[in-house]
Amino acid sequence: MNAHSNPAAAAAAGTNPHFILVPLMAQGHMIPMADLACLLVDNGGLVSFITTPVNAARISSTLAGVRSSAIPIRLVELRFPAAEAGLPAGCENLDLLADYKLHKPFVEVFPLLADQLELYLRHQIPAANCIVSDNKHAWASSIARKLRIPFIIFHTPSCFYLHSTFSIKRHNIFDRLKDDFEPFFLPDIPQRIQMVRPQVERWLDSPTWEKLRGECYAAEEAADGVIINTFEELEPWCVERYGIATGKKVWPIGPLSLHNRETETRESATSIEAAIDAERIRKWLDDREEGSVVFVSFGSLARNPISQLIEIGSGLEAAGVGFVWVVKEVEVRSSTEAERWMDQFERRSESEKKGIVIRGWAPQTAVLSHPAVGGFLTHCGWNSALEAICAGVPMATWPHFADQFLNERLVVDVLGIGVAVGATVPLKPADEERKDAVVMRGAVANAVVRLMDEGEEGEGRRRKAREFGEKARKAMDKGGSSNEYLKGLIAHVIGVTL
Ligand code: UDP
Repeated sequence: MNAHSNPAAAAAAGTNPHFILVPLMAQGHMIPMADLACLLVDNGGLVSFITTPVNAARISSTLAGVRSSAIPIRLVELRFPAAEAGLPAGCENLDLLADYKLHKPFVEVFPLLADQLELYLRHQIPAANCIVSDNKHAWASSIARKLRIPFIIFHTPSCFYLHSTFSIKRHNIFDRLKDDFEPFFLPDIPQRIQMVRPQVERWLDSPTWEKLRGECYAAEEAADGVIINTFEELEPWCVERYGIATGKKVWPIGPLSLHNRETETRESATSIEAAIDAERIRKWLDDREEGSVVFVSFGSLARNPISQLIEIGSGLEAAGVGFVWVVKEVEVRSSTEAERWMDQFERRSESEKKGIVIRGWAPQTAVLSHPAVGGFLTHCGWNSALEAICAGVPMATWPHFADQFLNERLVVDVLGIGVAVGATVPLKPADEERKDAVVMRGAVANAVVRLMDEGEEGEGRRRKAREFGEKARKAMDKGGSSNEYLKGLIAHVIGVTL
């Protein structure tokens, strides 16, 4: 047995490649990066997971399974320069920002972490072999250059999004449009898919992000390659064409959420309340018929005003199917009207046994894989979409912002496993000023009814979703495509540095 087939022996011999993971401080980025950390450790790597104190406390339970194993993940806490960004102490994650306007100062202060990271790396034994950085941490690329180690970008969106935005830029599509309402076809893909400019992420052309965007493109240009949380069988043409178009090595090594499906460490509750909720959901679902419940959740960042919560709740009631609906504390506490309406809705739903409302955080991957769950009303964050795919659950798609509209097109038009709710206008995360509902109860009810439909159309979607779930599992298994790409990634790092 050589050192790399026995991670503990390799660690003792000091021959494990040492990966430095630098995630963006947002749940949709930290969670897959934590999964990647566990995957690398399980495959003979050493991992330093770079974060800040508040985020370390939140992610530690996800990392707990391997932290107690022979090779602990090094959870590295850098001081977050909140004061320098004009943010209150402890405001260290995108989901903690009180308002969308704080997004820019939050992101712009990241480069101040560079000196602390460099100092850490200069004292590491064994030395760092590679930095794997979220694409928004462009500053980390200069440290990799200084220390002469490989720099790899970790992309959290779908490859369909990466490929589409790259092609839109390459063909200067936006320059040819009269205005924001002129539709255009996505370039360089076999399907005929129409979008309008605002639905493609603002990041691509907004002057607000011009400087950071330039730095991120430059960092990516200089990178050894990119890791994508996807699997080849899901979007094969995108993986291939994105690699050719960018000239980069592409390692699709997901779905990362599947790596510890055996150990269930991913869902370990971070608080007593979360543990009670998890048990409550499980019991409620256990009493429901197979495939009869819709799970409703909009990720970690999207915040709905009370007008929208009322439309969602009323739409779910009108659809007449069982539901588990996750609402955020910040949404419920936004006004006494919201508190009162939610309290009444919750009591009514529970007493009539229609559904349950979870305030805060639900164990999403566990809920999605419960046999009673037959559909997912989602904002199409890529982690959520991928987790539904892993569970073989079709989706009703309601994109809000960022990569979500493109993810919706992939899920609905390309993969054929989704029903669009009909949201067309992008929103801002944590937008304090948004007061109006953008999707009405009728549209919510229609989409949920179609999603849960037991006829031919619904069954076709369910069958395809199950098939993709199977393919996802195979991809992550030994000898599967993602597993092979992972080996290639590790071999690349070893080949370049050890
Ligand atoms: N998530 C969860 N429980 C919740 C809400 C979100 O476990 O109540 C997880 C979800 O499983 C996913 C991540 O948080 O892994 C959200 O990422 P996504 O890309 O879907 O959306 P974002 O939060 O970035 O908008």
